[in-house]
Amino acid sequence: MAENLRIAVCGAGIGGLASALLLSRAGHDVTLFERFETPEPVGSGFMLQPTGMAVLHALGLATAIEECGARIDRLLGRSRPTDAIVLDVRYNALDPAFSGLAVQRTALFDLLYEAVKSEPVTVRSGMSITANDGASLHFEGHPPAGPFDLIIDSLGVRSVLSAATPARELEYGALWASLDWPDAGPFDPTLLEQRYFRASQMAGVMPIGTAEPGAPRKAAFFWSLHRDAFQAWRNTSLDTWKSQVRDLWPATGTLLDQITDHDALTFAAYRHRTLRKPYAGPLIHIGDSYHATSPQLGQGANMALLDAFALTRAIEAEGLAEIGPHYAQLRQGHVHLFQMMSRLFTPVYQSDSRALPILRDRIVGPLSGIQPAPRILGSLVTGLLGRPLQRLGLEPYRH
Ligand SMILES: Cc1cc2nc3c(=O)[nH]c(=O)nc-3n(C[C@H](O)[C@H](O)[C@H](O)COP(=O)(O)OP(=O)(O)OC[C@H]3O[C@@H](n4cnc5c(N)ncnc54)[C@H](O)[C@@H]3O)c2cc1C
Repeated sequence: MAENLRIAVCGAGIGGLASALLLSRAGHDVTLFERFETPEPVGSGFMLQPTGMAVLHALGLATAIEECGARIDRLLGRSRPTDAIVLDVRYNALDPAFSGLAVQRTALFDLLYEAVKSEPVTVRSGMSITANDGASLHFEGHPPAGPFDLIIDSLGVRSVLSAATPARELEYGALWASLDWPDAGPFDPTLLEQRYFRASQMAGVMPIGTAEPGAPRKAAFFWSLHRDAFQAWRNTSLDTWKSQVRDLWPATGTLLDQITDHDALTFAAYRHRTLRKPYAGPLIHIGDSYHATSPQLGQGANMALLDAFALTRAIEAEGLAEIGPHYAQLRQGHVHLFQMMSRLFTPVYQSDSRALPILRDRIVGPLSGIQPAPRILGSLVTGLLGRPLQRLGLEPYRH
């Protein structure tokens, strides 16, 4: 067992904050480096699954995040023009107490950051990392720091510490907006809904709860966009774009009325990358710097939480030299399984393919209601496929 290590955690995102918290509570000397002057969340919202919630439960934060999040029981996708259901995933197909929890990024970020601040973690903000040199870190405009016993790379998909394996930009990304939840309808607050036309058009609405208990409820709205089409979209009038969205999904009118400016939407480019080996000497990669993909399966934040937990377990169990291999052994199988699944599923919902959406609408959609498909889809969406929690000694979180 490695005791009282000097650990640098790079990046105050979901994975970095969770690692800093877990490692500080385990008695290590943790310094958290973040490029922003004031650490802040980027983006709209995401789904926490029974996997990620298991880690938050272990951190004592599950109840607090449930007070903000929106409980999701079902994922429902319909294909235009027929409106046939082609995606139908019910959490209760696996267990009646399972559900997803859709949250605003800021809600989870604030919770983790407040918890980190109550620990003896040194937070060094405004520190843009440029490289590591063995066990030391280099920054833009600041002297190097180190040496550390371990450097945790939680710098996300564009990590400069895992740049040797470049991420591949996917064909499609999406425009995202956080809007007021329309209390008067027409959306069901327990559903994440999507509408598709072929695989080239997709709109989604996800309830994402509140930023803090008692604050107004919000919805995440997303619209699939080709990676090369962002500038053309900005040059198109909002009304032209809105009528395209309404043609696909008329009910989105109440949400679109809240969008009065192109700047209300943020374009997220999606990237795919999996490191073969998530460690090299004292450097250990977690979260999107280890495995980035499209958010189609909604696992990225959950995987980052699992990585942080696995790493803490590996540190508890091993001497310094064995931490990396033990961490890889705890996470590699699950990571590769979901990266492969994401690679398979993403083009079915976001691509220029004409054949894949036909297969989806005519064969996969109708079959998805027949056992064992509901259970398989349930275990994919919950993140439980491959039993990642067993290896970590965690139980799936039940609401
Ligand atoms: C639009 C969208 C929707 C998503 N939906 C879901 C979902 O429903 N469910 C889900 O589980 N996941 C979802 N994800 C994925 C999820 O957001 C990521 O997998 C998760 O945030 C990864 O966490 P991380 O800690 O690895 O990196 P990040 O959260 O990206 O954090 C990286 C941190 O490092 C900092 N940083 C970066 N470079 C430097 C540097 N050079 N120096 C210092 N600091 C630096 C950044 O400022 C940031 O604070 C979605 C992603 C997107 C883009």
